[in-house]
Amino acid sequence: MEPLVDSWGREIRSVRVSVTDKCNFRCRYCMPAEGLDWLPRNEVLSFEEIERLVGLLAAMGVDEVRLTGGEPLVRRELPVLIGKLAALDGVRDLSLTTNGVLLDRLAAPLVAAGLRRINVSLDSLSHVRFAEITRRDALDRVLGGLAEAERYPELRPIKVNCVAVRGFTEAEVPALAELARRKPYVVRFIEFMPLDADEAWREDDVLSGGEIRALIEERWPLVEVPAKASSTARRFRFADGAGEIGFVNPVSEPFCSACDRIRLTADGKLRTCLFSRREWDLKEPLRAGASDAELEALLRHAVAHKELKHKISEPGFVRASRSMSQIGG
Ligand code: SAM
Repeated sequence: MEPLVDSWGREIRSVRVSVTDKCNFRCRYCMPAEGLDWLPRNEVLSFEEIERLVGLLAAMGVDEVRLTGGEPLVRRELPVLIGKLAALDGVRDLSLTTNGVLLDRLAAPLVAAGLRRINVSLDSLSHVRFAEITRRDALDRVLGGLAEAERYPELRPIKVNCVAVRGFTEAEVPALAELARRKPYVVRFIEFMPLDADEAWREDDVLSGGEIRALIEERWPLVEVPAKASSTARRFRFADGAGEIGFVNPVSEPFCSACDRIRLTADGKLRTCLFSRREWDLKEPLRAGASDAELEALLRHAVAHKELKHKISEPGFVRASRSMSQIGG
């Protein structure tokens, strides 16, 4: 099949698939303390529906698949889906983003099903501050989940993602940098984006990757490592060779020009940008018996409308039509 290319000439190689909008955490920068209705069960794509769409995308050259949510590990039988996707022709890189709280039980079946890469979100190594940000007292379980993941050499790299919020993260930086030095984890700081359900985000709340890098370099000099052109992260190794750190800077250093990603929500909507205001429904045609050729045409049509860039720092910026946990981060 022809590759999937948008109107700006960017070839789509990566899809993030949300397998559920449900989450067992309530991170302040993502979800409200309470509320936020879950999707009705029949609105959520089945494993077979996800498999069919990912198979079609893979045939068009989308070889990188990341499962996310909500919290993907709360979706029942997730290893079954991993097995189905791992077996698809053309899926080269199958990974998962999780809060890690159920990983102690699930790492083994996920690896057995074919998972080869994992990102665990972790914003603080202090029990009190972890609970403050996630509204859950679960730090030990997340660290236990990471330790379990570490037992499987097939599952590499293990990345630890921290959302950087001004006034909170500065104090966490030394311990998180130290984690990258003492454990086989690549720790990555991600700039806070206006995707929180509470709509509390202000530009001043963004602690930039540059600022965090300066904090780390006060103690440990860093050396930049070349990254793939489509990579969202700038990569650095510690000059003394002790580990790797990354910075995902969508606000201070947008990488839209090299964006090769699309997203599929749990209810079967295709999104061509995190900040899209428009979504393309695939569930209804899927359930109405659309042929592969019809679905392919829909996918190509949606991708042709992929946004040139997000407009976070521009005057008149309008927020995305859904918040992060509903989109799939
Ligand atoms: N529950 C899983 C997890 O915790 O990784 C997967 C879904 S979560 C929405 C995916 C990632 O988005 C997490 O690393 C989370 O920290 C990040 N995230 C959520 N809200 C964000 C925001 N407003 N700005 C930047 N990153 C955010």
